[in-house]
Amino acid sequence: MLTLINSVITAMPMYMMSVYKMPEKIRKKIDSYRSSFLWMRNLDNRKKYALVRWKKVCQMKKNDGLGVLDIKDMNVALLMKWWWRYKSPSFASLWKSLIQLKYNGSNNRSSYSPFWKMIRSLDSLGRTSSSYTVGDGSSINFWQDIWYNNCSLATLYPFLYDLCANKDCSLQEVVLTHGSILHFSRSLNGILRQEWHELTTILHNTCLKNEDDTMNWRWETNGIYTSHSLYQFLNFGGVPNHLSNIWWELKVPVKIQVFMWLVMHDKILSKHNLSKKGWPGDVSCCCCGDVETTTHLFLFCPIIKTVWFWLGNCQNEFYKWQSLPDIVNFAARLRKKNKHAFLTCFSALCWGMWNMRNEIIFNNRRAKTTRNLLILIQSYVEYWTGLTDEETKQYIKNWLPQDWNEVPIQMQAPEAPIGTMSSDDLWRGWNMGQLVEASS
Ligand SMILES: [Zn+2]
Repeated sequence: MLTLINSVITAMPMYMMSVYKMPEKIRKKIDSYRSSFLWMRNLDNRKKYALVRWKKVCQMKKNDGLGVLDIKDMNVALLMKWWWRYKSPSFASLWKSLIQLKYNGSNNRSSYSPFWKMIRSLDSLGRTSSSYTVGDGSSINFWQDIWYNNCSLATLYPFLYDLCANKDCSLQEVVLTHGSILHFSRSLNGILRQEWHELTTILHNTCLKNEDDTMNWRWETNGIYTSHSLYQFLNFGGVPNHLSNIWWELKVPVKIQVFMWLVMHDKILSKHNLSKKGWPGDVSCCCCGDVETTTHLFLFCPIIKTVWFWLGNCQNEFYKWQSLPDIVNFAARLRKKNKHAFLTCFSALCWGMWNMRNEIIFNNRRAKTTRNLLILIQSYVEYWTGLTDEETKQYIKNWLPQDWNEVPIQMQAPEAPIGTMSSDDLWRGWNMGQLVEASS
């Protein structure tokens, strides 16, 4: 599904997006098609929810999103190529000469051209994204371009910039006139005089050379513009979570990766989440009667607790876990292969439990025994990792029950719905090493 969205629906307008700014109305329409496709709405008459905000879906996987391409950001990233070519002093072509002649001349055709308007609209972002190595200073806007330290002088001295009447002068003009070209709308007193003194010191220390200025793209280490680097910059949604990538590194089907991403964001349609969306039904867990939250299903439900116990190696840790992120934090402390093995088992556990829960609710099936659920988990893991190397398989084996004879066959989860036995009773039952019989 994700591949289809990114490779087909999103790819179709890509060529146009690299030349024209996409109208907001069309962008919204395409996004609504993509969203419907992702959440499989409009396929039948059943109500389908969009489980996660579209903005979140469109963030990169390393930024904790689902990696669907953000059309708006990509459009800007692609169009920036034209701004870069136009502005870069080292880029010389017939196209650039034509554009300069046509729009920078005395006639006023520029106001009618969408293309020129698009280039001008990218000015602010382009200036923020590039810096200059000073040559003869003729291509550098003294106030607005970044040529001194890592920010423009307009940002460094905002009051002086506001008062200055010559906002478009080049660095060359200012240096050659020792700043006398700059006129201010009122006299500079106090702190402004101090700032002006600092500015003249910067000018005094600036040496012009007899060569072109060089423009550097700030988001690439080699200084050359790429649309990918700008897209990354625009798509960055805040402080990165170092565990965001963890599910996408696993060798499990994409469907499972997406499922685990939804689980960790507490966006699966558990009964508790459904009730938050206005669903009027009973929110009790079909296995034990407690409220069916995501954490309950995969950590606290008595059935899953017994499974966690036999999944091996984490008995000591297991008692400390209070939420699903605790499990991921535990995994993050493991070495890479062991971490992947554990998270693969965790994914199989969640997927197995989720399928069992759906079978009980929608097909009136009985709950599986702990042993059967563990066997199911093992079969998922073996299927997913069938083609991986022996070392990885061995790591995974270590997390599964070492001796299946020890896993009690009779320890059976109660039939759904149970109603009479609390989860605490069940928990105590297996915790004391007793076999919990079916509630019948
Ligand atoms: Zn339960």
